[in-house]
Amino acid sequence: MARILITSALPYINGVKHLGNLAGSMLPADVYARFKRARGDEVLYICATDEHGTPAELAAAAAGQDVATYCQEQHALQHDVGRAYGLSWDWFGRSSSPQNHRLTQHFAQVLEDNGLIEERVDQMVYSVDDRRFLPDRYVEGTCPHCRHTPARGDQCDNCGRLLDPTDLIDPYSAISGSRNIEVRDTRHLYLLQTKMEQPLRDWLATKGDWPLLPRSIAYKHLDDGLIDRGITRDLAWGVPVTRDGLPRPGFEDKVFYVWFDAPIEYIAATQEWADNAPVEEARDWRRWWRTDAGAEDVRYLEFMGKDNVAFHTVSFPATILGSREPWKLVDTLKAFNWLNWYGGKFSTSQKRGVFMDQALALLPPDYWRWYLAANSPETSDTAFTWEQFQSAINRDLADVLGNFVNRILKFNEARFEGVVPDGGEPGELEHRLHADVSIKLADLTEQMEAIEIRKSAQALRDLWVLGNQYLQEAAPWTAIKTDRDRAAVIVRTGLNLVALFARISAPILPFTAQTIADSMGEPYPGVWPSTDAALELNRLAVGQPVRAPEVLFRKVEDDQVAQWTQQFGGADS
Ligand SMILES: [Zn+2]
Repeated sequence: MARILITSALPYINGVKHLGNLAGSMLPADVYARFKRARGDEVLYICATDEHGTPAELAAAAAGQDVATYCQEQHALQHDVGRAYGLSWDWFGRSSSPQNHRLTQHFAQVLEDNGLIEERVDQMVYSVDDRRFLPDRYVEGTCPHCRHTPARGDQCDNCGRLLDPTDLIDPYSAISGSRNIEVRDTRHLYLLQTKMEQPLRDWLATKGDWPLLPRSIAYKHLDDGLIDRGITRDLAWGVPVTRDGLPRPGFEDKVFYVWFDAPIEYIAATQEWADNAPVEEARDWRRWWRTDAGAEDVRYLEFMGKDNVAFHTVSFPATILGSREPWKLVDTLKAFNWLNWYGGKFSTSQKRGVFMDQALALLPPDYWRWYLAANSPETSDTAFTWEQFQSAINRDLADVLGNFVNRILKFNEARFEGVVPDGGEPGELEHRLHADVSIKLADLTEQMEAIEIRKSAQALRDLWVLGNQYLQEAAPWTAIKTDRDRAAVIVRTGLNLVALFARISAPILPFTAQTIADSMGEPYPGVWPSTDAALELNRLAVGQPVRAPEVLFRKVEDDQVAQWTQQFGGADS
C-alpha cells in the first residue's frame, strides 16, 4: 500500500469560485484521490481557503463586515459548495488558522537564522488622513504605462502590467479616496531568494519526469533571475511578525505577506486535520510531511492552474529548502491551462460564465464533473460552450451510460424477476467482450495512474460503449424467445458490466456510481477492478436481487440551452 499526499491550490477567500477553478485544480485532485483510494492506497487529500491579503480586507469592507467574520462565512460557503460537488477532502482548512500562524512564524525564524531573511527599508505610500500605509490594492491611481484610471497598486487591469504602489500617477487611498498621501520609509523583511537559485536548480534537475508545462514555467522564472521578495506588509489581518515567539520590534503593525504564508498552509492544514482527529484515532501529521518522521515513502502530488506554478516550483520550495529542515517536497506537479468561457475569460462583473453554486442550481454535480473532466484543459486552454456541454451530457451520459444501465436492469426485472439469473455458459460473444474490456480496463487504469484526466474520461466512455455494443449484438430480447439459458448468460454479463461501471465511474461520477451500486446491492465505493475482465464480469452472485434505479441522467433540452445562454452569456455576449 502506497501513501499518497494530495493538495490542490488554495482557493482565495473572496467568494465562490467559477467552474474554471474547479476544472483546473480541485476536480482533478479529487478524481485522482478517489482512484487511489479505490486501489487500496492510503490517501490524504488536503485543501484550504487562502484568507490573507488586501483583496480579503477590501471584499470584507465592501460587504460591510469585519474581515474575520467575512472569512469565516466565505470559508463555510466554499466548504459547503465543494462538498456538494463531492470533493473528498480529508481536510479543508483555513490559512488564518492558529496552526498556520505558528508554522509561518517558525519558517521565518529558521530562514532568518540561515541568513536568508533580512530587514530592508522600503519606500511605501502612506495616507495621512487614514493614518496608515497603503499596500498593494489599497492605493489606486493612473497607470504610468497606459494611463488607465483607476489602476490598482499591484497591477493595472487594463494593460495587465504589474505595478508598485509608488509607480502610480496621481495616487489616492482606496479606503477613503484621500489624495493627502506621501511616500514614507517603512521596514520590511525580505526573503533572499537570490541566494536560493542554485539549491532550486539542483532540486529541479531531479524532476526530469515532470510534464513540460511546469518545468518550462519554473526554468523561465529561474532564467529571468530570481528577486529578493518582501514577505511582510503594513496590514493588520494576517500572521503577526514575531521573533523568538514575541512581537518583532518595529513590526508590531505588520503581518507576513499572503504570498509567504499561503503555501505553508498545506502543512498547517494537515496539522489542523490531525488536531481535529478524535482522540482514540489520533492522527500524526508528521508522517506525511517530515522525512525524519515517516514521510520519506510518501508520494506528494500538487494540483494547480498554470498561474500558480511559479509559486509551487520556486517560491514555496525556496522556503522549504531554505529552512534546511527535513520537510517533504513535491514529487509530482500537475498543472492545468485555462478553461475559458467561449472565447474569453470568466468574469463576475460582466456576468460571463457559471460559478460553482450557480451550476448546482441548474443540474446535479455529476453532469458538471463529467463535462469538466472530459474537457479538462490539460494540453491547452479549452472553452466551455453550452452546445458542447449539452452534447457531452446527452451523448455520453444519457445515451451511453444511462441508457445501458436502465435497459439491462429493466429487461432483467421483466424477464428474470429482478435477480441475477442462473444458467448457461459464456459463449464466443462473451469471450470477445472479455478481451475488449480487458484491454480498455488496462488503458483506463494506465491513464488514471498518469493523471491524464481527459484520456481517462475517454477510456471510461469507451467501456460504456462496449457495454452497449455487446447488448445490441447479443440481443437478449430475441434470445429469450427461444433460449432462456442464452438470455440468462447475456443478462448476467450485462448486470456484471453495470456493477463494473459503478466501480470504474466512481472517481469521476461519484454520485451516479453510488446510485448504481445501491441498485445492484453492491458496496460503495467499490474496489478498483483488475484488468482481467473474465474475472471482473463474473462477480455478482446468482440470485442477488438487483433493481433499476430512477433515470440516471435527464437530457439537456434546447430550450434550457437557450435560457442558460441568456442568463450566463454565450457566444454572442
Ligand atoms: Zn496600464
